[in-house]
Parts: sequence; structure tokens; C-alpha cells
Amino acid sequence: RVKPFQNSRSAPAAARMVILTLHEITALRRSEQMRADFVANASHELRTPLSTLLGFIETLRGPARDDADARDRFLSIMHEQASRMTRLVGDLLSLSRIELDEHMPPDGRVDAVDSLRGVIAAHELKAAARRIRLTLSAPPGVPPVVGDEDQLAQVFQNLVSNAIKYTREQTEVAVTVSVTDGTAVGAGRMVAVAVADQGEGIARTHLPRLTERFYRVDAARSRALGGTGLGLAIVKHILNRHRGRLTIESKVGEGSTFTVYLPVAVEAAGTDGQVRPQP
Ligand code: ADP
Repeated sequence: RVKPFQNSRSAPAAARMVILTLHEITALRRSEQMRADFVANASHELRTPLSTLLGFIETLRGPARDDADARDRFLSIMHEQASRMTRLVGDLLSLSRIELDEHMPPDGRVDAVDSLRGVIAAHELKAAARRIRLTLSAPPGVPPVVGDEDQLAQVFQNLVSNAIKYTREQTEVAVTVSVTDGTAVGAGRMVAVAVADQGEGIARTHLPRLTERFYRVDAARSRALGGTGLGLAIVKHILNRHRGRLTIESKVGEGSTFTVYLPVAVEAAGTDGQVRPQP
């Protein structure tokens, strides 16, 4: 934050002067450093599949020109690398769009259970391919939450997709909806969505950093599974906008539970038609 200089009598040119406290300069440097790191990471993530693509194009133009078998194999690798870049660019765009309107609270109402049904249906095939049972349980009459439908679907989708990716084969990914008074996360009445897997779990030291952009416990594994390293950062920013919360519980060797808390929507007492979280 930049503060305008206040005392204009003792400093004639003060109107155009700004003073930054040491604390603010440190914060500014840190945010510049984070931006620079982010650009460096994003460029690196894009350069790797690009180099692979260029390498295969050269091979196809030269040594493998008349080898039909090699051509098919190379084309499928090239397709995978191009898909990876598409996913990455898609996630980068999502992240920057979310950041743009992060300060504007959403004013719609969303049926979280309905949204989860859609997300689960869209992941059935992926789960079946790893012989994973995907279940949804919700009590009747879950109230709507305050939110943006597409963004909340993205939160659920990122968590369900991670659970399917990181759980062990032939296990269960259980999505459980409940309504809480919010005391667990120090807030009002909330809808809680817990996504529990039976994967390898995450060591405690990693937990605080998981929602940082490009932070991965095992980068090679994440890439091999098609991850971009941005899924949980996207979740965090969407939840910030929704005044929601994320908790992560994990036991190494047993599995992880990611729980999202979202404020329950109630009609405002006024007549402006806006929906606000219950105090
Ligand atoms: P990625 O695209 O790498 O999955 P995310 O931002 O979604 O990126 O997640 C960041 C990292 O958190 C992952 O690389 C993985 O190490 C860890 N992670 C996320 N979800 C799980 C999970 N359900 N079980 C174990 N590790 C997880």
C-alpha cells in the first residue's frame, strides 16, 4: 500500500510525494519476487514440452521420415505434449481471470450437491480406468451456498480429479457433504464438502505450501499424471473470493482428505435481491 504524504505545509512538493515504510518496501519486494518466480516457473513449464515437440518435429523431418511405425509413436507423444501445454495455458488463464475479480464477492446461489453430481459424472470414466469407486453422500435439504457456479464446479473438479490421480488403484474416493456451524474454521453456518482418498498421503511439512503455484510434492509424478501444479492454487483463489476455507488432513500411507467450507446463502433481509452469507 502506498500512502500519500500528509503534511503539505512543511513539504511544498508533498502532494505528489509518496512515502513507503520499510515494512511496505519489504512486502513490495516480496511480491515482485513472487511474480518473477511465477513467470520463471511458467516459462520453464512451457519450454519443456515445446523442446520435446521441436525435437520430434526434427526427427520426423529427418531420420524418421519414411518410418511409419516411428511416425505413429512420435505423433502420439507430440499430441500428449501439446495437450499438456493446452492444460497449462488453460490453468494460467483461469488463475489470472480469478485474480482479476477476486475482490468482488460472488452474489449467486449454488446447489453444491447438484454441482458435485455433475463433477462426479464427468469423472466416472477416469475413476473406472483405475478401478476406483467414486461415491457421493449428502444429507437431504443441504442449503445453497453463496457462489459462482462455474468457479465452484472448478473447485470440486480440481479436488476430485486430484483424489483420483493420487489415490491407489482399486480404492474408494468418497465425497461427503455436510452442514456445519462453522466453528471448526471460525466462521458462520457453512456447507462442508470433504473429498477423501486412500492414496499415499502427504507429509506434514508439505501441507502449508500445497496451494502455492507450481508447488508439488513430487514434480515428476505430477507431470506423468498430467498435472500442471496449479490446481490447488486455483482452488485457493476461488475460495478467497467466496470467503470459503480449505483444510487438508493427511496421513502418510493412508490417504488425504481435502475439505472445502462455503458460507450458506440466505435471502438478505432487504429487497435488493442480493444473496449474502448468513452472519
Ligand atoms: P498437480 O497438477 O501437480 O496435481 P495441484 O496444485 O492440484 O497440482 O496439487 C499440488 C500438489 O499437491 C500435487 O503435485 C501433489 O503433490 C499434491 N496433492 C494434491 N492432491 C493430492 C492428493 N489427493 N493426494 C496426495 N497428494 C496430493
